[in-house]
Amino acid sequence: MNIVCPHCNALKFKNEAPGLCCANGQVKLTPLVPPPEPLHSLLSRNGPDSNHFLTHIQQYNNCFQMRSFGATKVIRDNFMSTSKIHGQIYHRTGSLSPMPDEDY
Ligand SMILES: [Zn+2]
Repeated sequence: MNIVCPHCNALKFKNEAPGLCCANGQVKLTPLVPPPEPLHSLLSRNGPDSNHFLTHIQQYNNCFQMRSFGATKVIRDNFMSTSKIHGQIYHRTGSLSPMPDEDY
């Protein structure tokens, strides 16, 4: 990824189409808002735990993906084995360790 778009500074592969990222400057996005602390320090290599975080971020993300998928309304019928989700989707993250009165 050593090709830089002259319009949006996107990094691209050498065989990517010239207008693929921003339609040759026709699409202009608002600048991203910096993430809140402590995430900003972790991502910008400024915090003491930043190297560990950036080295293992994929493993942490894999641990939490689809772990606690929830929705405000789930529709199930007996005919199909799938579920339909209607409304807001959210994640419920509990403690990483079992509570004192729970078994593993
Ligand atoms: Zn571009």
